[in-house]
Amino acid sequence: MNETREPRKVAAGIYMVGGPDLTDPRDCLCYLVDGPQAKVLIDCGAGPSARAVLDLAIEAAGAPPTHLLLTHAHIDHAGGAAEIKRSTGCQVLIHAEDAQVLATGDLKRSAADWYGLALEPLEADQVLEGDGAIALSEQEDLAIIPTPGHTPGSVAAWCMAGGLKVLFGQDVHGPFAPAFGSDLGQWRASMQRLLELEADVLAEGHFGVFRPADEVSVFIQEQLANHQG
Ligand SMILES: [Zn+2]
Repeated sequence: MNETREPRKVAAGIYMVGGPDLTDPRDCLCYLVDGPQAKVLIDCGAGPSARAVLDLAIEAAGAPPTHLLLTHAHIDHAGGAAEIKRSTGCQVLIHAEDAQVLATGDLKRSAADWYGLALEPLEADQVLEGDGAIALSEQEDLAIIPTPGHTPGSVAAWCMAGGLKVLFGQDVHGPFAPAFGSDLGQWRASMQRLLELEADVLAEGHFGVFRPADEVSVFIQEQLANHQG
């Protein structure tokens, strides 16, 4: 661990706490939302680095996460979930359409076979159906919205931070594969929903953090242009 491996501030109360150059090359970008009532870890890496992601989340928030929101069940996002659940007792949330992948450790649907890793099975505490929310404070929620396409149970989340609307849109870019249950038609509709949010900041799962609002919109539009029907 060198001195660059510390939480990276994205916006007020929001930090990047995992990723290829922070924790493990196989990890997605993981984020921590530090609210007075909830400390929400959004995705947790491929598994071998679970402890490192958790340590950075604790460093960022000063306390362990109270919630782990999994944007989908791919192993680079959800591989550390079982260990983080054991270590913290946090509430684990995932959408119903990806919950079985996590519960069974499905090697193909989780893309674990791509990574040569095993997904440790975990029963989520909260299985999301439609829109959801985690109360960050008495005034503010982390809103959770289904964005099927990359996988059937993909979700995005957003909250206000220091006057900015911050969108957590993991794997907005795809990829798409029959083995994942991908659906490009659903994905296009999901991307329109994200565009309508007019977020000021996009915290993406592999491509980094985009801002201001124009750059967020351009990135999502580019993905749509890359995957015309
Ligand atoms: Zn994915």
